[in-house]
Amino acid sequence: MQLARWWHDEQGKIRCTLCPRYCLIGDGQAGFCYIRQNQGGQLYNLGYGRSTGFAVDPIEKKPLNHFLPGTNVLSFGTAGCNLGCKFCQNWSISKAKLDDEGSELTTPDQIVALAVRTGCVGIAYTYNDPVIWGEFVIDIARAAHAAGLVNVFVTAGYVTPEARGEIFEHIDATNVDLKGFTEDFYHKVTLSHLNPVLDTLVWLKRETPVWTEITTLLIPGLNDGDDEMRRESDWILEHLGPEVPLHFTAFHPDFKMMDRPRTPAETLLRAQAIARARGLRYVYVGNVHDAEGQTTFCAGCGAVLIERDWHAIRRYRLHDDRCPDCGTAIPGRFHPGRHAGGERRTAGSRFGVSLQ
Ligand code: SF4
Repeated sequence: MQLARWWHDEQGKIRCTLCPRYCLIGDGQAGFCYIRQNQGGQLYNLGYGRSTGFAVDPIEKKPLNHFLPGTNVLSFGTAGCNLGCKFCQNWSISKAKLDDEGSELTTPDQIVALAVRTGCVGIAYTYNDPVIWGEFVIDIARAAHAAGLVNVFVTAGYVTPEARGEIFEHIDATNVDLKGFTEDFYHKVTLSHLNPVLDTLVWLKRETPVWTEITTLLIPGLNDGDDEMRRESDWILEHLGPEVPLHFTAFHPDFKMMDRPRTPAETLLRAQAIARARGLRYVYVGNVHDAEGQTTFCAGCGAVLIERDWHAIRRYRLHDDRCPDCGTAIPGRFHPGRHAGGERRTAGSRFGVSLQ
């Protein structure tokens, strides 16, 4: 078992300082996330070395549209989560306890070797929130960098100022789920709070080199109002700037939220139109087939730069990181010279890639 970081003794118990829940954990108990446990006055991370299975995913699935487009990343998660989203789209992992998930024991070096063997450019820490297994992320990410791979962190951004510097130290790109834009939604539907997530986003943008994109899953009747979309867009514009890509993605009924319909495509397009009208330059729709809504357009001349369909790239026109027509630079990280010339790529995940 791996001793955890980010905790101290308090009133004969342990105060975990990794996420804004700040759980006070008695001997023999675990925190809200299940996988951080007090055993004999020490906090252990039970998720260390335990994966719930690996997949090779297109990087567009994370989703990241401005970070090495057209590449694959080795993706995995562990059990547990520090949020309590009633609509969780990965609940069989996030709500699992380690003993019922059948997780595999793995070392950082094994995971890096698997990423190299499967032709991935990097590793994505994803599926459940990697904040809660931050110690494992740090060790893998360090080994991945030594092997020339990149690190992608898919998160709700619910992490404390005490821990985030170490967790993101070796991360190259992140997608942060901004799950809604009211405290009421965060409190009632995710069992967490909005402000710490906003704080993480501002910190990422202003104080780190980590490439950051944002995703908001739109749930009919809960977080899809025009006013909420306007306020979210305005906040991003004011605090993060117009160039942070924003993805509006479609919800499907799952976990404890089976009573809501799927998100209509029109809702995604309405959200995209609102965010663009408020001044955000790179706004995408996701979990639907919509080539126009998933295309990257030049902010200078409006030309098509990267045309996508779902997670596939249909046309790629960037020259390095610039529009071939007007020369405007596109924010993000792109392979110099790679893909230019209209290459098509089909995309799909390969599940169950194994360490052997
Ligand atoms: S990481 Fe887990 S144990 Fe620590 S405060 Fe958050 S939910 Fe609680």
